[in-house]
Amino acid sequence: MTNPLLQDWETPFGVAPFNAISDEDFAPALDAALGAHTGEIAAISDNPDAPTFANTIEALEAAGTDLDKVLGVFFTVAGADSNPVREDLQRAFSPKLAAHFSDISSNKALFARVSAVWEARETLDLTEEQARVLMLTHRGFVRAGAALTGADEARMKEIKGRLAVLGTQFTQNLLADERAWSMSLAEDDLIGLPDFVVDAARAAGAELELGGPVVTLSRSLIVPFLQFSPRRDLREKAFRAWEARGANGGDTDNRAIATETLKLRQERARLLGYASFADYKLETEMAKTPDAVRNLLMSVWEPAKTQANADAAVLTKMMQDDGVNGDLAPWDWRYYAQKRRTIEHDLDEAALKPYFQLDRMIDAAFTCATRLFGLQFAPLDVPLYHKDCRAWDVTRDGKHVAVFIGDFFARGSKRSGAWCSAMRAQAKFPNVQTPVVINVCNFAKSDPALLSYDDARTLFHEFGHALHQMLSNVTYESVSGTSVARDFVELPSQLFEHWLEVPEVLSEFATHAGTGEAMPRAMLDKVLGAANFDMGFQTVEYVASALVDLAFHDGAAPDDPMARQTAVLDGLGMPDAIRMRHATPQFAHVFAGDGYSSGYYSYMWSEVMDADAFEAFEEAGGAFDPERADALEKHILSTGGSRDAAELYVAFRGRLPGVEALLKGRGLAA
Ligand SMILES: [Zn+2]
Repeated sequence: MTNPLLQDWETPFGVAPFNAISDEDFAPALDAALGAHTGEIAAISDNPDAPTFANTIEALEAAGTDLDKVLGVFFTVAGADSNPVREDLQRAFSPKLAAHFSDISSNKALFARVSAVWEARETLDLTEEQARVLMLTHRGFVRAGAALTGADEARMKEIKGRLAVLGTQFTQNLLADERAWSMSLAEDDLIGLPDFVVDAARAAGAELELGGPVVTLSRSLIVPFLQFSPRRDLREKAFRAWEARGANGGDTDNRAIATETLKLRQERARLLGYASFADYKLETEMAKTPDAVRNLLMSVWEPAKTQANADAAVLTKMMQDDGVNGDLAPWDWRYYAQKRRTIEHDLDEAALKPYFQLDRMIDAAFTCATRLFGLQFAPLDVPLYHKDCRAWDVTRDGKHVAVFIGDFFARGSKRSGAWCSAMRAQAKFPNVQTPVVINVCNFAKSDPALLSYDDARTLFHEFGHALHQMLSNVTYESVSGTSVARDFVELPSQLFEHWLEVPEVLSEFATHAGTGEAMPRAMLDKVLGAANFDMGFQTVEYVASALVDLAFHDGAAPDDPMARQTAVLDGLGMPDAIRMRHATPQFAHVFAGDGYSSGYYSYMWSEVMDADAFEAFEEAGGAFDPERADALEKHILSTGGSRDAAELYVAFRGRLPGVEALLKGRGLAA
């Protein structure tokens, strides 16, 4: 019997035939697909003909079709609907895949052919996209160390192995410190805490078999405790424990790991020919240089600090009125900010919820896509992997564009968070393939399904990523859809969130589940006003972390990262009652792996762009301005990574993004 994962899928639009696939099919299909890909790679690297763009770069693009199919299906179900078998498979697959791709990037014969094409690039008469794919392919090999030989090559291997060990150790130490601490609460200590915090504290105590409510260092418990507990002594105790994670001495201390990690990264960058690790990491980003990142962060820092200091004065006054003397401390900020929020915004989540019905919000997102890009969405009946999944045939002018799948409800088999992925990405080479795109969320299931405002934002956010995949219109899959720089990939998603805030969208689609009436304007204003609350604090804690991350990787690695951290914060004039969002011994974004190392800034980089890009619509006369929508599709949503991100942005906006719209959006403009 043939493995259904490896057959041609004779289904509507070639959506994977989930009803025919069983878990036993994955392992043999993966082995077969890896074998086929290895054979294809060998045929390219051993080709006796002189290297050309077609027989090398295009051949690499065309290879791995079965692997794409198998992994597209497997990672979809492993993330959204796992079970013990799929978890075992995932553990077995990840080292296999790592070894497979490492073999390709260290294949000397293959690299020699890629380099030969690269050297000849000026003579090849390539299209702009072909030239870009060639550059990216060559650069990918170089960055992976393919050009290294002898002792350097051996050392690189050693460094990569050691960094992986350090990253894992960092994560485990942090978890160990988080698990080792808890603070029991007597019944009296619960006074002033809202029910949901008391419930969470009791649940945590029960899970730890401590016989009563406790506070733990889990962000989802300690943050609300710090927000609501009137007991300053308990807040201080909890905060100090939270702050000490990864820096408690002994076996689980992360400070030496941070030092060694930074030194090894610096050495790795030098081996590859870069002045610093930040130069190496930022080369592939829209920002490109440490200076560009620093300039952006510093232009946000000063207004944020000014706002935070003004807020600190208000909170200090509230604390003194409470009869507490002395300075506002880090364990006081969230408590008094929460009180202030209640006084100033008075937003009743329970009254708000009936206005955000899931089906109406899906309709809202689709309608925005129709008005902006002419897309139509018709329900599509295809077998999917779970009964809660829904599919739509996405068309324009009667022509099929993509399949969109929505898997919105939380369940035990789904990992947390929300994400968008392409089970099949758009491409025209070697054959035309239309995208199959999925949004996965974790909304509570109820009837009718109601969302919080944050949930509704998440829905729009992920749908923005989906548009980036669905409207992709490039030739080569390696640059299609969301295959763009990390600091550019959140632009379409964060930008699309703005349409949820357009008053005409909310008044049409935020209708009461019971009465069908539109949300009252006063409530809408409160929702939008509360979204900017305490932005001084949030911006300061974030930007401080991003600047410390950058300082760690720009220039020589520090002998003492903690001292470097202190020096950076002192230089910035960090407000006394605010700490970094992630201090060094807890900074998993930066030390658990190198995904966000010298890249923590990228959240804000994207936010600067989305604010600035949406302002382009407002300047043009409205959120649905057709010329702006065309430009957005032409220069950003259809182009994937086929051109440099900064060039794309300039083509859309006429200039690079400025921070003014972000400062205005965060309420930080002077
Ligand atoms: Zn996103």
